[in-house]
Amino acid sequence: MSIASSLDRATIERIVREIVYKQAPTAPKAPELVVSVSARHVHLTDEDVEILFGRGAVLNPEKPLYQDGFYAAAETVMVVGPRKRMLPTVRVLGPTRPFSQVELAFTDGISLGIDLPVRPSGKIDDTPGCVLVGPKGVVELKQGVIRAERHVHMNQADAARYGVKNGDRMALRIKSSCSTTFEDLLVRADATSKLEVHIDTDEGNAVDLDHATKVELIRQ
Ligand SMILES: [Zn+2]
Repeated sequence: MSIASSLDRATIERIVREIVYKQAPTAPKAPELVVSVSARHVHLTDEDVEILFGRGAVLNPEKPLYQDGFYAAAETVMVVGPRKRMLPTVRVLGPTRPFSQVELAFTDGISLGIDLPVRPSGKIDDTPGCVLVGPKGVVELKQGVIRAERHVHMNQADAARYGVKNGDRMALRIKSSCSTTFEDLLVRADATSKLEVHIDTDEGNAVDLDHATKVELIRQ
């Protein structure tokens, strides 16, 4: 006779209620730390979208990103480096921005022959350029090709909980087959962001993020 059939229905219901009650949150829980690998991608201005994809073209959201309002678009472009070496299919992320920008990992930079500067997103003065090729046209970027500096998005409640503020630095400890602590993550705190670390593919692969057993942010 199975255990279940030896228990009467009332007993089973009581046990289930107890289990559910135990799991019910008693206080708002701190959000789970999400660590995302930001693969190579391009941000575009409205104007560059029209040059690359045709007059009147807009980005078509294909997959929402973890942060509300951001998405991977259906559109991709070819990124061409200085010696005509290229990455054929680089995803465009939306929404559009005031400046076009290309975010690559160092491995991509080596493939393209571009010595990538490490910059926070948006700080593109004196950075290398490249050529973007779309199905309908070509854009020459004078600057804007970077390796995005590792960073953590959070809202002000998260920042208060960690005891940090926008612009501070934190460490990210990852337990895996290749345990590593990344230092100097830039804190990007605002009113609405969800707690999420962005590292690039080189960093994610180096630390075997797919098989990580624990991720932890530490105040530096
Ligand atoms: Zn980010």
